[in-house]
Amino acid sequence: MMRVTARLSDAEIWAALSEVPDPEMPIVNLVELGIVRAVAWADDTLAVTITPTFAACPAYAVIDDSIRQRLQAAGVLDVEVRVQHSPAWSTEWMADAARSKLQAAGLAPPPRHQGDVLQVLLEPVACPRCGSYNTSLCNNFGTTPCRMIYTCIDCKEPFEMFKPL
Ligand SMILES: [Zn+2]
Repeated sequence: MMRVTARLSDAEIWAALSEVPDPEMPIVNLVELGIVRAVAWADDTLAVTITPTFAACPAYAVIDDSIRQRLQAAGVLDVEVRVQHSPAWSTEWMADAARSKLQAAGLAPPPRHQGDVLQVLLEPVACPRCGSYNTSLCNNFGTTPCRMIYTCIDCKEPFEMFKPL
């Protein structure tokens, strides 16, 4: 017997993709990070367009697999994951839900910059623990190239900020 693909609606597709965690930061999902850009049916194939957070993102293969597996679990037989590198991923695409989760995990979310990254890097960063702006930058690179390390002068603890891109 031929299997028939589940013709999910756009809302159902986005809801399913919202359950796929980012491989590098599993507390946030691919949709709220802004990695999933578009979904579209072409006949019986569901095309999912993604923009990885970094051009040479080593997690790309994992993202591709997890999107495919989640949609196939929902009954979509043919899934095509397309990568779009231009325009490059920006932290401006990160949803407020993702920013709140980063903050709750003790990681300062990337500041909103409206295209002017340099300007925003000169502005004070709030400590994700106590909210104090009495913080100083100690290192441009944290545990990953996308993070910067700050110290909170009030609670004396270091914290990482997600670098604005
Ligand atoms: Zn603090």
